[in-house]
Amino acid sequence: MSILFENVTAVTMDPAQPVLKDAFVAVEGTQIASVGTERPAGEFERTIDCTGKVMMPGFVNCHTHVPMALMRGYGGGCDLHTWLNDYIFPVEAKLDDWCVAAGAELGLAEMIASGTTCIADMYMNTEIIAQAALKAGISADLACGAVYFGDPADFSPETCNDCENHIRLFENWHGAGDGQILVDASIHAEYTSCPPAWEWVAGFAQKHGLRMHVHVSETLSEHEKCIDKYGTTPAQILDKYGVWQNGGIAAHCVYLSGGDAELFAKRGVTAVHNPVSNLKLRSGVAPLFFLRDCGMSVALGTDGVASNNSHDMFEEMKTAALVQNYSFGEDHSQLSAADILAMATVNGAKALGRDTGVIAAGKTADLILVDFTAPNLFPCHDIMENLVYSANGSNVCMNMARGKIIYEDGEFLTLDLDRIRAEVTGYALPHIFGGK
Ligand SMILES: [Zn+2]
Repeated sequence: MSILFENVTAVTMDPAQPVLKDAFVAVEGTQIASVGTERPAGEFERTIDCTGKVMMPGFVNCHTHVPMALMRGYGGGCDLHTWLNDYIFPVEAKLDDWCVAAGAELGLAEMIASGTTCIADMYMNTEIIAQAALKAGISADLACGAVYFGDPADFSPETCNDCENHIRLFENWHGAGDGQILVDASIHAEYTSCPPAWEWVAGFAQKHGLRMHVHVSETLSEHEKCIDKYGTTPAQILDKYGVWQNGGIAAHCVYLSGGDAELFAKRGVTAVHNPVSNLKLRSGVAPLFFLRDCGMSVALGTDGVASNNSHDMFEEMKTAALVQNYSFGEDHSQLSAADILAMATVNGAKALGRDTGVIAAGKTADLILVDFTAPNLFPCHDIMENLVYSANGSNVCMNMARGKIIYEDGEFLTLDLDRIRAEVTGYALPHIFGGK
């Protein structure tokens, strides 16, 4: 389909023209065909007047566990390890495919309505998530997050479920939907697995040219226990087994050493900052200035809704900016609104190897419109400042993913929210939490 957006004000993330005014953006098929102040020649199947709205690239949410939407607010008030062991793991043990499908669709609906067009997700029953993402229309890098709690001496890829899950997910889904779905190799974390499992996953990634997705140094205790056990940090012990050979994403990176960050910079690993989840679970604050000074790229993620408790990337941007001011502001000037917007869009796209996150000709048409006539966005002295510090997810009035409008003026065009609600309340919640 061909669509022409006219009267466009846009934050492009393209250094050649960061802010556009009175512009035209043409979309043909899945790509942006042209961007400029001259009306492009030719006929368009639809023309959209963007007066009063601001266009920006759709958000790239680089670390999520989308079905955890079912656990929104569950186990609130705990630190990470109590929350995981006493609340989340027991509930997750009851999840079946139907629950995961309902949770994934609910999470995807929330993401789409608040402007996300691409995610990197790590969770179990991953093929069910792939089906949901394919139908919803957004791009998704999916990972099954290998865990292995057995004796390392007993490890065998034939008996480790997550080895089988990696193989099935890759064979059935890598590249599905003309590249809409990509598969990442993944270890859940250093503390939930062991060297033979790391070696197998690293070998699988290298064999198939896959990126890696791992939780790294999220809490101080995780980081220090790893040093006690292996004599080195999670980033560096995993590197010894070849885990980072193809680059990828390291979620959290709250306690990285300088050596860790330099290693990641060398390997092409992007830090995914999840400030709301880190604050809610009292894990700490990732030192973004330090990571950047060590040469690392930083992207943003919400983490799962169970520790956030939303998928709103506007909230994530504002929190990221404010918490750096609070924690490290004395020694550094403020991260600019443009820096924060880059973390939420183009940096994430680059981390996932996706040609998106920028409004420019030839890029994937992942675009959102934000209603700047809303009271919280008026007046506007600086568009980027309003996007980072004033906007919220409910200001999004259109979401176009891969050239297709999937959400417009409150209406979902690929998902049935009433049916999703019925599946969540009628099946998934009673199944995992009990009761009626
Ligand atoms: Zn996570």
